[in-house]
Amino acid sequence: MMSKIIGDSVEAMLPLATDKNLILSVHNQCGTEQVLANRDRLVQVTINLISNAVKFSGPNSRPIVVHLRCENQNCLVSVTDRSAGIDPAYHELIFEKFYQAQADGPKKPKGSGLGLAISKRIIELHNGRLSMESQLGTGSAFTFVLPLLSDDSAH
Ligand code: ADP
Repeated sequence: MMSKIIGDSVEAMLPLATDKNLILSVHNQCGTEQVLANRDRLVQVTINLISNAVKFSGPNSRPIVVHLRCENQNCLVSVTDRSAGIDPAYHELIFEKFYQAQADGPKKPKGSGLGLAISKRIIELHNGRLSMESQLGTGSAFTFVLPLLSDDSAH
């Protein structure tokens, strides 16, 4: 069940968010809908997106919102932060292996630069899409969309 996967991922990230005095807010508009997926892999992707949102948000920033919607046979999960944002020049590049947008600057991020490349691959292997919208200085929203398991295919 998608609601449970997202709930568990958020719960796992709460200590990290609390450390930076950040609120993780969940908006769940799904019921008991399911997707055909490897549960651990979806938790991995969701945790990657939330941990990035926390990592690139300054302490006491505005809440990070995790939004879950089920509509038109699709499940949409978005993670939105209201902090650093990403320069349009890097929008494609950050999904590449080992790429880190601020790697040459004074605020070099901790991490491998692998998270988004792996997440994108995992979502695509589940017949989904991972995309991003971001404005520098305003924040970023990462969204993945997965096909819902229809009632017919559940039997
Ligand atoms: P890592 O987090 O290990 O650096 P990722 O592949 O998860 O690797 O992210 C790649 C790069 O994308 C990050 O180094 C950062 O430059 C940028 N990025 C990802 N998420 C965010 C975000 N929420 N806000 C700002 N920049 C981000």
